[in-house]
Amino acid sequence: MKEIRTQALVIGGGPAGASAGRSLAQSGIDTIILERDFSYTKPCGGAIPSSAIAELGIPERVIRNKVTKIKVFSPRGESVSIDLTGGTFCITERHELDSSLRQAASENGASIIESEFIRFEKTGKQVVSLARDRKTGEELRITSDYVIACDGITFRAASSAGLPKPGFVYTISAYVKPDDYNQDTCEFWFGADYSMLSYSWIFPAGNFLSVGTGNEDPGLLTSIINSFMEQRFRQDIKDFSRERFISKMRAFRIPVWSKPVYNLGNILFAGDAGSTVMPVSYEGIYYSMKSGQLAARAVAQAKPEQYKKEWERAYKMRFMMMSIIRKHLLKNTNNIERWVLLHQRKEVQEMAMQLWLRKDASKRSLFSYVSLFRHIIKIW
Ligand SMILES: Cc1cc2nc3c(=O)[nH]c(=O)nc-3n(C[C@H](O)[C@H](O)[C@H](O)COP(=O)(O)OP(=O)(O)OC[C@H]3O[C@@H](n4cnc5c(N)ncnc54)[C@H](O)[C@@H]3O)c2cc1C
Repeated sequence: MKEIRTQALVIGGGPAGASAGRSLAQSGIDTIILERDFSYTKPCGGAIPSSAIAELGIPERVIRNKVTKIKVFSPRGESVSIDLTGGTFCITERHELDSSLRQAASENGASIIESEFIRFEKTGKQVVSLARDRKTGEELRITSDYVIACDGITFRAASSAGLPKPGFVYTISAYVKPDDYNQDTCEFWFGADYSMLSYSWIFPAGNFLSVGTGNEDPGLLTSIINSFMEQRFRQDIKDFSRERFISKMRAFRIPVWSKPVYNLGNILFAGDAGSTVMPVSYEGIYYSMKSGQLAARAVAQAKPEQYKKEWERAYKMRFMMMSIIRKHLLKNTNNIERWVLLHQRKEVQEMAMQLWLRKDASKRSLFSYVSLFRHIIKIW
């Protein structure tokens, strides 16, 4: 067993972990990131708003495509096209994105070890974490003053610290050949045929499309994705799978934000491990990177409880609002129909795009979202 001592240990080298590690190292904190598999590619649409690219220091080279329109389909087959003004959706490939973020963390001074976190041996003023080196199989015993857990939906660190798992939305997705698909447009399909409490999507990334669906019931995923693809691409699914699939269909989970635990003393939880995924849109890359940064800042100030305060000040209102929409609107076909069609109105499009494209939206514009959604709920 190898004994290691560091000031901060980051578990997981995805967007949250790489961002946390980079920020910690930039603050001069001795940091180790544990990533269990450098070759891992997370199943993900990879869409990031353009405003976040500069804000988060994401290198331009990982952007495969810049999408300028979205098309939203209602349960009864109506559609609304929205031109993105003031920004684009940048589509990335996750292995490239995650590797580049880890590289940035390393260039800023974080050490990155390809090892799997197993469990906490001891918590308290000093945390002792047990891990296993991927290549050599050697056991590592890492003592640190702080841990930032960013191990995604495995929740291994949270479970080891005694926390329960959150609720999930289940997804299935694959990369398929784009053929003649319009690369300018992301599609979102709402309604019970395409998923419940989520949506089916097509995100174009140049030489591939990310196609997938989400649902509350994992048992329905295969039938929903098959009928979605058959309907959308008008091909029999068996022929489709032979001809057009680039990757296998992969099932995965997305944590549902509800009442996340931000820290247990000197162990902080960021990204999917802290359930920082936006309800309804399931946008998680931006928020996981921001949560990693905020957790790191709190560690640098030796005030871990500051992480929750900073996070809630910046994002709680948006998350609560989208939680309400998810709960009240997306469960009911009539409501979804009206909600989608409401986006024909320019001012509604503008507000929806503020939520996605402009993360620095002022408090005033956030209040205008709230009043809009209150109005929607009232008229139903
Ligand atoms: C199908 C699907 C589509 C999505 N599409 C989008 C999208 O288009 N845009 C968007 O913004 N969000 C999207 N999301 C959400 C987004 O993928 C996540 O919110 C984001 O990846 C969270 O980043 P993270 O770093 O917290 O976790 P992850 O990306 O899951 O990273 C966790 C890392 O920890 C490592 N790890 C796990 N366990 C251990 C361990 N025991 N020891 C060491 N390392 C460990 C993993 O290998 C991984 O590298 C999508 C999610 C899904 C499932």
